[in-house]
Amino acid sequence: MEKLIFEKSHSGRRAYSLPKMDVETININEEIPNQYVRQTPCELPEVSEIEIARHFQRLSHLNYNIEKGVYPLGSCTMKYNPKANEKAAGLDGYANIHPFMPESHIQGALQLMYELGQDLVNITGMSGVTLQPAAGAAGEFTGIMMIRAYHLDRGDTKRNKILIPDSAHGTNPASAAIAGFQIVNVKSDEHGRVDIDDLKSKINDEVAALMLTNPNTLGIFEKNICVIEKALHEAGALLYMDGANLNALIGIAQPGKFGVDALHINLHKTFSTPHGGGGPGAGPVVVSERLLPYLPVPQIKFADGIYSFDYDLPKSIGKVHTFYGNFLVLVRAYNYIKMLGKEGIVRTSSGAILNANYLKSLVKDYFEFPFDEQSMHEFVMSGDRQKKRGVTTMEMVKRLLDYGFHAPTVYFPLIVHEALLVEPTETETIESLEEFAQALIAIDKEIDENPELVKSAPHTTPVRRINDAYAARNLNVCWKG
Ligand SMILES: *Cc1c(COP(=O)(O)O)cnc(C)c1O
Repeated sequence: MEKLIFEKSHSGRRAYSLPKMDVETININEEIPNQYVRQTPCELPEVSEIEIARHFQRLSHLNYNIEKGVYPLGSCTMKYNPKANEKAAGLDGYANIHPFMPESHIQGALQLMYELGQDLVNITGMSGVTLQPAAGAAGEFTGIMMIRAYHLDRGDTKRNKILIPDSAHGTNPASAAIAGFQIVNVKSDEHGRVDIDDLKSKINDEVAALMLTNPNTLGIFEKNICVIEKALHEAGALLYMDGANLNALIGIAQPGKFGVDALHINLHKTFSTPHGGGGPGAGPVVVSERLLPYLPVPQIKFADGIYSFDYDLPKSIGKVHTFYGNFLVLVRAYNYIKMLGKEGIVRTSSGAILNANYLKSLVKDYFEFPFDEQSMHEFVMSGDRQKKRGVTTMEMVKRLLDYGFHAPTVYFPLIVHEALLVEPTETETIESLEEFAQALIAIDKEIDENPELVKSAPHTTPVRRINDAYAARNLNVCWKG
């Protein structure tokens, strides 16, 4: 395969080299050896254009998506994303940019990244930023690696533990473990917040940081955040914030003001990139002054009217993504922030909070609410009452599909029995919230009147019940031809 290696890119730099592969070398300029040439014509299925167009059109209609209706997946922030941002990301100069283009040719792209970074720093009240991480989890790993570098740099080598509340998203312990830390669980109190006594009893000189989601995954603001911050910093530990729920805070509260040291932002949740199908995301990390020296390289610098990549950060943890991250996700976020402006951003988070609380008020008489607290942009309720009448949360949300709605997040957070985590987002209208609430209430009624109908749902979807664990348990990523 040697011949296929690009030795030089147009700029004269070595582009990349492919590993040597153990396959027969074919010179693409010569004729294909006879043994590889098909002896009989290939039987390709033949269909007319209209048949294939209809086929894919029909398939596309089987999908549920945010343009069909409410998509209340808690923790995921499945809001509608303005088409203008898609259009911006599709502009030729952005979409077809090559990562090896010289800095002088990509001043616009560098300016965009620089300004987006500044905007994120300003929105969160922090001091520095990296745009590289490809998603929230990658941001967590990046943040934890910086925290690790900070402690090691100070000669503080004992800190091998990360504290994580029991309501946390699974990526938090996973990221900390991959970064080499032991995980210590912190309990939640009866109000759904971090149990301060339990936290304090676990803070010691082996703790590197606490990873905290705020508002937490129960949709509740950690109002003791300043007590938490003080306890950590006094003991030499740092505060990592999971910013997946930033949709509730932007324009209202700045994590930098409550002492956060590192925070990832899921641009694909809060700042307008469609997601859900595993498409590219971006998880920029903003940091406090303490962590500035450890930010990934390159940083984007602006001096004398010129934007450039700055690799001169001797204590940097290095690179965490090829090139500069998922650039087109950054374009969407930039466009979104500039389009909304300061006022629009406040309306976003206020609207998200209002919608969640309005929806909660519509269903509060029908479900159990384990925490009697003000909700932020999402709320958690329990299907315990329904389960006592013989129908599980899973069966209930399958029935919701028959009513034409996507199900909310279920069985997360783990500390709530039969959990339903509902996040309507700011882009839903009053009418759609009311229709969604009516569907939930109707299902609650069906549990008494016709429980079998609910237990055997869904009845109207293209596929009925699939075994959602089978593929993960019987992993087969190899195609045997
Ligand atoms: C989505 C989410 C994450 C992980 O983010 P990804 O972008 O999916 O990697 C982490 N924490 C919380 C609370 C989340 O909701």
